[in-house]
Amino acid sequence: MTFRTRFAPSPTGPLHLGHAYSAILAHDMARAAGGLFLLRIEDIDRDRSKPEWEALIPEDLTWLGLTWDEAPIRQSDRRDSYDAALDALWARGLLYPCSCTRRDIAEALTAPQEGAAPAIGPDGPVYPGTCRTKPRTGPRPRDAHLRLDIAAALAAIGPPAPHFTETGPDHAGTITTAPETYLGGIGDIVLARRDFGTSYHLSVVLDDAAQHITHVTRGADLFEATRIHVLLQRLLALSTPIYHHHRLIRDDAGKRLAKRDDARAIRLYRAEGATQEDIRRRIGI
Ligand code: GLU
Repeated sequence: MTFRTRFAPSPTGPLHLGHAYSAILAHDMARAAGGLFLLRIEDIDRDRSKPEWEALIPEDLTWLGLTWDEAPIRQSDRRDSYDAALDALWARGLLYPCSCTRRDIAEALTAPQEGAAPAIGPDGPVYPGTCRTKPRTGPRPRDAHLRLDIAAALAAIGPPAPHFTETGPDHAGTITTAPETYLGGIGDIVLARRDFGTSYHLSVVLDDAAQHITHVTRGADLFEATRIHVLLQRLLALSTPIYHHHRLIRDDAGKRLAKRDDARAIRLYRAEGATQEDIRRRIGI
């Protein structure tokens, strides 16, 4: 099986050193394995994605000395595939519409209740289930978020518990997620946002499958989300890649880099006459 990995930036700002690390690592792993390095533009957030940021991605990557082996895919071109998966999950009764706002959820969670503070999952506070009893019949609603009924999803896949192989520095080994973790620590996540018509979780799983990705290389901030991705792969009968969650690049104060930290943008290093070697040295490759 050919090793296939990818770099999947969102064009919502300039690529920074953290992106450079992720892209170079994935690229170098592919080259070392005699495999392929692919590019995907994750632009489901149409408000925050900008053509100028998208145009900068291949420029920055080329300047970093990276080459990719197939034409990049863009999430905004893949709506049909997201719709088909949502239709199938809806037909199986695994989704329900949710009209709760963040505030509704926060209020439901702070209502006096026995037990400890609300659990925080990969997407924030674990959803309290307010809309879980809404009807799941008729055409798939487009005017509400669609949540995955995680208990029904677990029942649909049956044993064994979802698992994946992790090769990154922090958790290397087989990572298994118990049903209780899904129920209590992740909950009914949003699979289709009303405004996007999909979600990061659904799109990334379908896109990795469409690009025949065998090895996912990405930041450690997405490690917990992988538990969701593996469950979705089982539900949708897709194979599970091997995962490598790498360390995050931090600034001198130890803070994780974000797109707003424009001072670290690759294009600025480029403009200042830095070299590829300078960047590799700066990020410790
Ligand atoms: N688009 C995500 C980001 O820019 C990466 C998602 C992934 O690699 O799965 O952070």
